[in-house]
Amino acid sequence: MSNSERLTFEISPNPRARTADARAAAMADPAFGQVFTDHMATIRWRADRGWHDAAIRAREPFQLDPACAVLHYAQEVFEGLKAYRTPDARITLFRPQENARRFRLSAERMAMPVLPDELFLQAIEELIRVDRDWVPTRADGSLYLRPFMFATEAFLGVRPAAEYLFCVIACPVGAYFKGGMKPVTVWVSDDYTRAGPGGTGAAKCGGNYAASLVAQAEAIRHECDQVVFLDAAEHRWVEELGGMNVFFVFDDGSMITPPLSGTILPGITRDSIIALARASGQPVEERRYSIDEWRADAASGRLREVFACGTAAVISAIGEVRSSSGSFRISDGVMGETTQALRAHLVAIQRGAAEAPAGWLRTVPLA
Ligand SMILES: *Cc1c(COP(=O)(O)O)cnc(C)c1O
Repeated sequence: MSNSERLTFEISPNPRARTADARAAAMADPAFGQVFTDHMATIRWRADRGWHDAAIRAREPFQLDPACAVLHYAQEVFEGLKAYRTPDARITLFRPQENARRFRLSAERMAMPVLPDELFLQAIEELIRVDRDWVPTRADGSLYLRPFMFATEAFLGVRPAAEYLFCVIACPVGAYFKGGMKPVTVWVSDDYTRAGPGGTGAAKCGGNYAASLVAQAEAIRHECDQVVFLDAAEHRWVEELGGMNVFFVFDDGSMITPPLSGTILPGITRDSIIALARASGQPVEERRYSIDEWRADAASGRLREVFACGTAAVISAIGEVRSSSGSFRISDGVMGETTQALRAHLVAIQRGAAEAPAGWLRTVPLA
């Protein structure tokens, strides 16, 4: 199957789809990832048939054999992206081709079949078309889309499975941080790392998250919001948060972000921020930055702002760093000007309120 191939989706409306009133109540103040739309997209893959059985159907539990491969060896990858309503009443996706591409690369890393980019996009758009009323109209709302794929074959031998299910579910979401844009406090983990050279750090797979949860729990115990991971080899270079990339902003307006060396996740928000900053003449260096430099630059005042970025929260400021060897603050614990400006610009582009670089917004065909 070529990368531009599409399938015909069989559309079976959910007979238990919620009424307009029930939907409005569910969407009034949704906690992130807890309210779901009425439908899901599914496509099956089998070694002897390739991709087949594309459908939009009622969102419901899967039936899985207890020997289902994903439950034992974790062959699973996922994506996360958002659909927005624009001022001129369209529904758009932000750089979804990049999610399609990354999904393909994640699948390859996990020895899973590659879903053609066009089919990835088609599944998302067919689902939005059916569940369009679930795309929030409120200013800070969006529809979060979660495409994922996992091994469904029932067997306990260790090898890539011969059967997979691709699925897309969707959640209406409001602002990620309910408390507004208060800077977060991060914990530097001494004991845990997220990914090593040659590992799966650059793949968006559930296993990376499973491995990060104990470190995140440690961060919470130290009254921090998030964990920041250092590299596995030297335990010195800042890599990323559990699910967000990180940027450092200096007093001369320049920025540093860790390079894509294979151990960090290539964020689309990260890439967008680099592009926007460079287009406005703000230099961004992709280079290694150590926890010692971070501490020293914060102390000297050269480091003005630090922020984390990802699809769910877009951009959030980091106001304090805690570790077993002490803690320090950045930008007096408030969101700095550069962070605020980048955030406002990116959000305006995503919502169709500011001009987007060519190819960044894709209109979902609703007819
Ligand atoms: C998804 C993800 C990010 C952010 O990627 P975006 O494309 O910007 O949403 C960063 N780190 C990890 C580990 C992730 O899984």
